[in-house]
Amino acid sequence: MKFRISRPACIGNGRCVDVAPEVFALDSYNKAIIADRNGASEEKIVDAAHACPVQAIILESDNGERIYPTIE
Ligand code: SF4
Repeated sequence: MKFRISRPACIGNGRCVDVAPEVFALDSYNKAIIADRNGASEEKIVDAAHACPVQAIILESDNGERIYPTIE
């Protein structure tokens, strides 16, 4: 699984950092960044994505297919 953060979408509330502090951090602009891509299990990263209120954490399969959030 691959994941990235939509920087424009992030509102900097830090929920992802609460869920997976090994992976996510907030930068000086109060936007989430990936501190350590391999810092936690995929399950925890999925939990962090689901905890984001604006769906700014985008999950993709290894071949690039969107997993979350799903596109209507
Ligand atoms: S939970 Fe979402 S909005 Fe909040 S800091 Fe993380 S990526 Fe940004």
